[in-house]
Amino acid sequence: MIRINENYTKLKASYLFTDIAKRVNAFVAANPAKPIIRLGIGDVTEPLPPVCITALHAATDEMAKRETFKGYGPEQGYAFLREAITAHDYTARGCPIEADEIFVSDGSKCDCGNIQEIFGSDIRLAIPDPVYPVYIDTNVMAGRTGMNADGRYTGVTYLDSTPANGYVPAIPSAATDLIYLCFPNNPTGAVATRTQLAAWVAYAKKNQAIILFDSAYEAYIRDPAIPHSIYEIPGARDVAIEFRSFSKTAGFTGTRCAYTVVPKSLQAFDAAGQPHSVHALWTRRHTTKFNGVAYPIQKAAAAIFTAAGQQQTRAMTDFYLGNAKLIRDAMAKLRLPCVGGDNAPYIWINTGRDSWEFFDLLLNQAQVVCTPGAGFGKCGEGHVRISAFNSRANVEAALTRIAAALK
Ligand code: PLP
Repeated sequence: MIRINENYTKLKASYLFTDIAKRVNAFVAANPAKPIIRLGIGDVTEPLPPVCITALHAATDEMAKRETFKGYGPEQGYAFLREAITAHDYTARGCPIEADEIFVSDGSKCDCGNIQEIFGSDIRLAIPDPVYPVYIDTNVMAGRTGMNADGRYTGVTYLDSTPANGYVPAIPSAATDLIYLCFPNNPTGAVATRTQLAAWVAYAKKNQAIILFDSAYEAYIRDPAIPHSIYEIPGARDVAIEFRSFSKTAGFTGTRCAYTVVPKSLQAFDAAGQPHSVHALWTRRHTTKFNGVAYPIQKAAAAIFTAAGQQQTRAMTDFYLGNAKLIRDAMAKLRLPCVGGDNAPYIWINTGRDSWEFFDLLLNQAQVVCTPGAGFGKCGEGHVRISAFNSRANVEAALTRIAAALK
């Protein structure tokens, strides 16, 4: 008899965005004349930068000719893209990362979901709360947690992000082995300082642990003192893997391209305490289970690193940050405390009441969809996330409606 992976039955029954969709659909069915503005899900709205479109067209033409046609490419990505990433995102920032430590992929969601399978099934996890759900759910699926009791899985060290710690979790007192960090953070929009990241690197070193650093939103950092990469911290290449995505940097959510950095100096241990190269393990996994990102997509991604590409992507992130500023200013006028939005496209609002109740209030009174914080974890209760990914007109209209609903 075929059996299921019973770890899947531990997953919380309903996924956050499914719950939101149900409530929104019910509202729309009952109020067809009231148009909704969605500031919930973090998907981009602006089209791809012109440099990417030009590169896509040119690469498509190459695919049309026998002399330039490409079949299977290298699973880790074409050298032209890995080298551009290294030069621009690492060497230029003084980070000691080489092109063969970059693994190009079709998304950070897959990478930060898949990476756990190269580590032991009985390792100790440190997971942020609130959290990008992929980190916890993929570990539940792999059987690294107990059951969900009162909104938390047993056997996990949760890293609480609260108003008291400015939404940057403290180093746990207990030892852990695999630590998930995300800065700029989804959902809170909080960023970590160099000192805070250095403390995490020191903790990982002391515990022979590995940090999984998700910097999918680094392109939104404007404060020059905030590190864009964990590798800006000395010693981090011995304890950290970094995830980056072109999704929010250049509007690639539908186009799909991202990369993961696995330094060759990173080690993990077998049961006998013998060290193994994590780079070798990930190479084995990636080349066995992944067949590379489409050539035209990698060409489009490489175009981002040209001078024109840099200017165009900066204009795009500036545009969303302009939306974020409007949202923050509106919340300040409403005297609702919030973080994020200055170095991140998300604004995390401390509503002072139940987060689903606040979600329903905005939906019913303002026809604006936000994301209830409780869906991201226990510490998200009392908060909602508003996303800056939308047109200026929609953001302005939503804020006018929210102000009228809450006055
Ligand atoms: N990491 C974080 C924190 C995210 O918020 C997202 C997407 O929303 C991702 C990773 C996934 O990005 P990608 O589109 O590359 O899969």
